[in-house]
Amino acid sequence: MLALTSSSLEHVGRPVIVRIARPSIIRRLRPIPPLPKALRGRTLSHRGAWPALALDVPERLRTVPGIWRDPEAERQAYESAPLHDFISGNSRAITWLYTHMWSAIIPVAPRLLRARALIEQVEAEALLQNPRGPAVESSSLTAEVRRRAGEIGVSAVGVAPYDERYEFVEFRDRKVGETIIVCVLEQNYDSTQHCPSGRSERAALSGYEEIMTMASELARFLIGRGYRATVTGPEGQNITIHYAVEAGLGQLGLNGQLLTPLAGSRCRLLTINTNAPLERDHPVDYGIHGVCDACKACVRRCPVSAIPGRRQWYRGVLKSKLNTKRCLPIVAQANGCSICMKVCPVQKYGLPAVVEEFERTGMIKGRGTDDLEGFDWPLDGRHYAPGKLPKLSLQVREPPGVVIHTHPSGDENDVVGRLWS
Ligand code: SF4
Ligand code: SF4
Repeated sequence: MLALTSSSLEHVGRPVIVRIARPSIIRRLRPIPPLPKALRGRTLSHRGAWPALALDVPERLRTVPGIWRDPEAERQAYESAPLHDFISGNSRAITWLYTHMWSAIIPVAPRLLRARALIEQVEAEALLQNPRGPAVESSSLTAEVRRRAGEIGVSAVGVAPYDERYEFVEFRDRKVGETIIVCVLEQNYDSTQHCPSGRSERAALSGYEEIMTMASELARFLIGRGYRATVTGPEGQNITIHYAVEAGLGQLGLNGQLLTPLAGSRCRLLTINTNAPLERDHPVDYGIHGVCDACKACVRRCPVSAIPGRRQWYRGVLKSKLNTKRCLPIVAQANGCSICMKVCPVQKYGLPAVVEEFERTGMIKGRGTDDLEGFDWPLDGRHYAPGKLPKLSLQVREPPGVVIHTHPSGDENDVVGRLWS
């Protein structure tokens, strides 16, 4: 199986394999047993709760806790255009993406499919519980959930209120309670430093399987206490980053991803919806907006300029709005790309080291160095040092026949592209 992932076969065999690696075929791989963990060590995620954060954010990096919000604009955006599931509304483009990512998906698919089945099993068990759940003291239950999450291997959990405005229309009827638990799992460090590559892509997919399994175990812990608790799948049923920011797990980076203080966006996220009475966390100002404004490595290094250099208001939130039409074709064709994750100093060094260097020198750690900002480009096998970017053909940037709806309405919802369902 590993031999199948060699880059030569991957690129030579791609035209044939993209015709047969359809989601309907990949779903049949579920019974294949996993490779021993010893053989998967290069892609497995970091296990266990993160240590307490020691960080003194300097005044000049501070902005707002969480993210800038305009509540009235958020309300208007929700009422005039509620959010739809990107995958259901982009079924054909997502099918095209999956078939191009075959070399990473096939080795991980059996585990992902079993984790998906586990999530469905947990949902069925959750619905047997009373919709109200037992009354308990919320601080002790919350402490138990955090302790159990760490034992299971989750890096961090945070608690935020359920917010219909950030749920996809297609999944709202699956709500079981007023609380969202966000689970964070730190993805394999070494693999991420090799983005984009088959290894880094497999590590990302492996991280999804691992967190799906861990979150299911955490949900079962709550079900065992008499509560309802369901887990979202790898494709998401909501804007998970919204919940993660509200739960104080990090802040939104210019790369459009959640930057956690200890691993940047080198994380996989999943949410649990529950009726358990848990204490809510709150948004935090970690100084990440200030770091991003002094850094902009992801903006400079994206091969298709999909990351704007400045924030703008979008649906009541001030953010750097990723250009999905430019990004998604590159993710499909360049081993998941993720250069914007790889070149992020918060991902590579952790925020405490970045802040310490900024305090001492006024500079962003690693900025402009090949170690941080250089990458190997899988489409031509060349290394691109800071200041250099690959030249991409129109065929790669805008693959013929691939249409991406950035405001999906659900009209294309034929579930062809929903691989793990
Ligand atoms: S994944 Fe690649 S193409 Fe997409 S925004 Fe990041 S660097 Fe750009
Ligand atoms: S690379 Fe720099 S600008 Fe981009 S998200 Fe990371 S810290 Fe922010």
